[in-house]
Amino acid sequence: MEEVEDWKERCQRMVEEQLIPRGIINRRVISAFLRVPRHRFVPSEFINSAYADYPLPIGEEQTISQPYIVALMTQVLDLREREKVLEIGTGSGYQAAILAEMNCCVYSIERSRVLAKRAEEVLKQLGYTVKIKVGDGTRGWKEFSPFSKIVVTASAPYVPPSLLTQLEEGGLMVIPVGNKVVQTLTLIRKEKNRVKTESLCGCRFVPLIGEEGWK
Ligand code: SAM
Repeated sequence: MEEVEDWKERCQRMVEEQLIPRGIINRRVISAFLRVPRHRFVPSEFINSAYADYPLPIGEEQTISQPYIVALMTQVLDLREREKVLEIGTGSGYQAAILAEMNCCVYSIERSRVLAKRAEEVLKQLGYTVKIKVGDGTRGWKEFSPFSKIVVTASAPYVPPSLLTQLEEGGLMVIPVGNKVVQTLTLIRKEKNRVKTESLCGCRFVPLIGEEGWK
């Protein structure tokens, strides 16, 4: 495995130049970003761009999201220690590592077996405990539900009803909703008899493909 000697400095610059100026101020989020070696989650040909301000290809026509978007999605979830979090779209495993670094109990579903296996290996090498399943994340993970937080890292045409059912009362879900080209990053709060929705910003994600997503 290729190493990046100065990764800590690159990581520090990423936080100072890309995250803090855009409003990422939660200390636990920032310290997680400073501790996770992002370069370990990208293919070796992109290792020099691992801390750059854009998404990168990870194979299987998928991407690791831009650092700021991962940070924003993490910050809006208002995470507490030991909270049970479900991630849909493991991809490289980077978002899962950030959640694990924040001491959450992380469950992550990925539809690509190749990516799931690779992510599982890196996470294990770095000492993170994440429970990963290969499958259609639009159906959630009933066995371990309810989840206090859900993060969907692929874009959906609508909020998958199964995920809403598996979200705890008072829980939060962050999900990009829209068409296949542009979406709105949406924060959902599940309350007693209703669901509150807040639009955060425009975004571009790869599609969420599954029974309750894109066909
Ligand atoms: N969170 C990832 C990371 O930190 O690298 C980035 C995820 S990438 C933008 C979106 C991922 O969602 C892809 O790996 C894709 O295979 C996966 N995906 C798409 N539809 C899915 C589904 N129904 N269930 C699980 N994973 C899905």
